[in-house]
Parts: sequence; structure tokens; C-alpha cells
Amino acid sequence: MPTTCALCRRIIPVETIRDPQVVQEHHLRPEERAESPTVMLCRPCHKQLHAVFTNGELREDYDTISALQAADRLQDYLDWIRNTEKLDIQVSTSNRVRKRTG
Ligand SMILES: [Zn+2]
Ligand SMILES: [Zn+2]
Repeated sequence: MPTTCALCRRIIPVETIRDPQVVQEHHLRPEERAESPTVMLCRPCHKQLHAVFTNGELREDYDTISALQAADRLQDYLDWIRNTEKLDIQVSTSNRVRKRTG
């Protein structure tokens, strides 16, 4: 069964890509893994989320897919990824996130 990424809504043909990391489970409330709902994301979306948001921000303000899809910080990324077939990307963690988590 292909998996649809919950964030970019691209369909990932997991059975033809022999890479178990191509879709990843994201905990909508990081660090509350036991209670957190989870969604399946493609690898680029998962990387991007954790690069632009701290776990605290994800937990407090972005713990639903609709909040993430509406986030200003993701609009350029989403416009771009939806028009590519990329399943891996290089992301650099923003300074803001690095400072808060470091
Ligand atoms: Zn995605
Ligand atoms: Zn995650």
C-alpha cells in the first residue's frame, strides 16, 4: 500500500522504494511519546519539521497536521516539495531552533 504523507499529501510508493526510512512516524507532541498521536510523514517533511520548530513549539502550537500545514514557516517548503519527487533532502537546522535545543 502506498503511504500518503500527512503533511505534503504526496503519495509515497513505499513498496517500490526499498528504504525503510522513506516514511517516518512523527509524534505530534514530541517528548510525550506515550500519549502523543502519530502521523506518517515522508522523510523530507519530517526533517523539515524538526529543523524549523523546537519540540516545545511543536507541542504547544503545532500538534495537529492542520496547524502545521498552515504554519508560515512551512509555506515555501510545502510549495516546493509538493512539486518535486524528492524523498530525501538536506536541511540545515535554523539558528533559532539550534539555540533553543542546544
Ligand atoms: Zn511530506
Ligand atoms: Zn517527529
